[in-house]
Amino acid sequence: MKTDQNYKKGEIITVDITDFGENGEGIGKTDAFTWFIKDTVIGDKVIAKVMKTKKSYGYARLEKIVEESPDRVRAKCPVARSCGGCTLQSLDYRAELRLKQNKVENHLKRIGGFDLSNVEIEEIIGMEEPYRYRNKSQFPFGRKNGKNITGYFAGRTHSIVEFDDCIIGIEENKTVLKTVLEFMEKYRVDAYNEEDTSGIVRHVLIRKGFVTGELMVCVVINADNLVYSRELVESLCTALGKDLQSVSLNINKKNTNVILGDRTITIYGREYIEDYIGDVKFRISPQSFYQVNPVQTKKLYGKALEYAALTGEETVWDMYCGIGTISLFLAKSAKFVYGVEIVDAAIQNARENAKINNIENVKFFVGKAEEIITGEYENGNIRDIDVIVVDPPRKGLDKIAIDTMLKLSPKRIVYVSCDSSTLARDLKLLCEKEYELKKLTVVDQFARSYHTESVVVMSKVEQTK
Ligand code: SAH
Repeated sequence: MKTDQNYKKGEIITVDITDFGENGEGIGKTDAFTWFIKDTVIGDKVIAKVMKTKKSYGYARLEKIVEESPDRVRAKCPVARSCGGCTLQSLDYRAELRLKQNKVENHLKRIGGFDLSNVEIEEIIGMEEPYRYRNKSQFPFGRKNGKNITGYFAGRTHSIVEFDDCIIGIEENKTVLKTVLEFMEKYRVDAYNEEDTSGIVRHVLIRKGFVTGELMVCVVINADNLVYSRELVESLCTALGKDLQSVSLNINKKNTNVILGDRTITIYGREYIEDYIGDVKFRISPQSFYQVNPVQTKKLYGKALEYAALTGEETVWDMYCGIGTISLFLAKSAKFVYGVEIVDAAIQNARENAKINNIENVKFFVGKAEEIITGEYENGNIRDIDVIVVDPPRKGLDKIAIDTMLKLSPKRIVYVSCDSSTLARDLKLLCEKEYELKKLTVVDQFARSYHTESVVVMSKVEQTK
C-alpha cells in the first residue's frame, strides 16, 4: 500500500471519484490514500497530477477525464474552472439537488446522531432555472498590460479572471461593466492597484430588485470623489434606462480586502432601491444585507412560516433577525414578533422596513440575542413565548443561546440554517431532552455552489409524569 512517502509532487495518478468534499470538490482514493480533486464529479474516472500531500490525503489537479460520470454536464460558463465562484457547474442540476439533500441528512445523522426515520423529511426545493438568480454582484477592477479590466477573482487569489458575464448574476451586469470600462477609458480613470495602492476604481457593486426591476450601481473608489462622475451617470442612464434608480460612489481608501468603505455618496436617484419578498417591501442601500436569491428566499420563509404554524395568537421571537426579513414576513400571521440583532445598522433598516410596510406588531432590539432575551425575561417583560425562530450565521448558535432557548421553553423552535454541520451540532443539544425534531426541508438558494440552506422545526416534548 502506498503512503505519503510514495507520492511525489507532479506524479500522475488515476482515480475513481466516489464522493464530494465540503467545497464541492471530487474525492477519490488510491489504496487508503484520499485525494481531493477540484472540477471532478462523483462517477468520473480521472487522471490527475499530484500537487500536495499530507499524511493520509492529498490534493491533485485534474488532467484528463478518462470516463465521464453519467451526471457530468458541460459547464455553461467559459471560466467555470478558473473562477473562484461556482464549483458544481459540471454536475447535472438534478444530481446537485440530490447531493445537497444527502449532505444535510448525513450531517444530521453523523454529527447530530439523529435517526431520521421519525422526522418528516420533505423534498428539496430546487430552482426552476439554476442561473441568473443572484440579485447582487461585486466585480473587482484591476489593470493588465496597461489596460483596465474587470472580472472575478480566481479561486483563493486576487488575480482577476477577465470576464463580464457571470451566468448566476443578472444580465444587466454586462451592460454596467462595459459602460464603466468605456467611461474609464475615455476619461483616463485607472483601476485600483492593490500592490502600490494607486488608481481609482476598486469595485463595482450592482443590485437589482427582482420584483420591482429597480437597479443600483455603486462604484467603490480609492479617492474622495470621481471627476466626471456626471458623465458616468449619463452613460449609465443611457445604457440602463428608467430601471436605474440609484448610482453612488463608495469611498474606500484603505489598503484592505473589505470591499466597501464607510462613506457612500449618492450621485443619482435615491440612496436605495426597493424590492419585495412576498408582499413585504424592503429598502436596500449599497451596504444593506439582503438575501441574494429573493425567489428562493420567499420559498424558504414560506416554509419557516408553515413550520411556525401561526394562528394569529402567537408571540414569536426572531433571534438573529438581520434587517427583519423573517420577522416582517411572520408578523402578519402572529400576534406579536420581537426581533434581535447584533448589528445596529441592520436594526435601523428593520425598523424602517416595518414602518414602510405599516407593520405595527413588531419590536426590534439591538444586542446579543441571548443577552437581550434573558434580560427581557428576567425583567418580566416576556411571559409566554410560543415560537422562537433562529437564522444564525454559519457558525451557528453558542451554548448560552441554546441554554436561553431551552429556558424560555417555546412550543416550537424553527431553525433556518446556512450550514448544516453547525445545524446538526445545535439540534443535538436542543433535542437532548426537551425538544423533538419534527420536519426538515432543504432549499437551494445557491445553485451551482455547494452551499445549502435548510429549515427545520422542533416541538416541545410533552412531559408525561
Ligand atoms: N434573517 C436575517 C439574516 C440573518 S443572518 C435576514 O434575512 O435579514 C445572521 C444575523 O445574525 C446577522 O445579521 C448577524 O449580524 C447576526 N448575529 C450574529 N451574532 C448574533 C448574536 N449573538 N445576537 C444577535 N444577532 C447576531
